[in-house]
Amino acid sequence: MKLVVQKFGGSSVRDAGRIRNVAGIIAETYLAGNQVLVVLSAQGDTTDDLIEKAREINPRASRREMDMLLSTGEQISIALCAMALEAMGLPVISLTGWQAGMRTSNTYSDARIKKIDQERIRRELDKNKIVLVAGFQGINRFGDVTTLGRGGSDTSAVALAAAFGADLCQIYTDVDGVYTTDPRVAPNAQKLEEITYDEMLELASQGAQVLHNRSVELAKKYRVNLEVVSSLERKPGTKVKEVVKMEKSSIAGVAKDTSIARIAVVGLEHSPGVAFRVFSLLGKARINVDAIIQSIGRGQSKDISFTLPRSDVEEAVRTLEASKSDLNFDHITVEDKIAKVSIVGAGMMTTPGVAAKMFEALYDANINIQMINTSEIRVSVLIDEQDAAAAVRAVHDKFFGDEG
Ligand code: ADP
Ligand code: ASP
Ligand code: MG
Repeated sequence: MKLVVQKFGGSSVRDAGRIRNVAGIIAETYLAGNQVLVVLSAQGDTTDDLIEKAREINPRASRREMDMLLSTGEQISIALCAMALEAMGLPVISLTGWQAGMRTSNTYSDARIKKIDQERIRRELDKNKIVLVAGFQGINRFGDVTTLGRGGSDTSAVALAAAFGADLCQIYTDVDGVYTTDPRVAPNAQKLEEITYDEMLELASQGAQVLHNRSVELAKKYRVNLEVVSSLERKPGTKVKEVVKMEKSSIAGVAKDTSIARIAVVGLEHSPGVAFRVFSLLGKARINVDAIIQSIGRGQSKDISFTLPRSDVEEAVRTLEASKSDLNFDHITVEDKIAKVSIVGAGMMTTPGVAAKMFEALYDANINIQMINTSEIRVSVLIDEQDAAAAVRAVHDKFFGDEG
């Protein structure tokens, strides 16, 4: 008997009709003779609505209480979907993250899955039950509810697939696979039959929200047989795997991230150890910085700019300002109307001129580049947020359009 893990995202369980549709897919998989372990997200915009509700009460609510609140969204979905399966006469049980044994690190709102206690799920599967697990949540060593970061239900699903050695992990969503870019931004985006873990990880980390980046990291580590499929249409989706057939294009796709900001620390002393002091302070505050640029020293002073998640700006500024006399800088500037557009592809390691082609597309579209940042299989540019969609289309057309 095969074990299949199926994850359904928010739009796939949006209302009663969609929940019945999902129950139908689960039932079909179960009745075909498989064991089925299901992960569900909160319905539609529930998570955003809960965040808004919290803001009305206390805009600076603690992360612990935020997790307590946000985890309720997924619980609604599992209970409703279990009821739909019960109505079909199928044996089913829904479990919250803690009932399912999802043990996480302590960091509220951005917890990592540490281990999964398997007894409960095993027991239910052995009783031939369909098991529905609330995604995006777990429990830390204090016995408190944690959440895994926005989009984290994908990671719950892949972690369960890895822990239970599932034969297949299907991520059902509102698109029928992974495309060369977000089809909502570029309607001529093309569906990929398959993509490597490495390329998918870069795309996901650079803003392609179709998969949570940590889910791809886990899938690669544990060689999970992963696919992205539509919950609304029956067609083949996209396989995410170690090696794929040769692609025509040197890049796999284009991603954009509009959730970032840039901070410049202006007028720092031009002496050794300054960058170390700035970034160790940010590190201690658990702030992840991405691209970093240090200006060439002007006599006694220099500037350091870096990008970071927009949600961390306040904390970063507070942290730096608190050490202003020690760091001895002049002032801080914050720019949050920026975006990052990236091209990703293993092919760029062996194809010269890929970066130049991207820059040419941006030049032709009259889009100014503020910063550039690369990895072996990625080139990212920082641009004005208002240019982001146009930049994605221009770059995508250059690589995948008729002349690409
Ligand atoms: P779910 O609620 O099922 O988790 P998400 O909204 O998190 O779904 O992710 C699916 C969305 O990701 C799609 O609707 C699409 O707009 C967006 N997306 C961004 N980049 C891509 C891409 N390269 N391929 C497919 N979808 C993408
Ligand atoms: N409901 C959570 C979110 O919106 C988790 C998820 O959907 O994956 O981020
Ligand atoms: Mg998602």
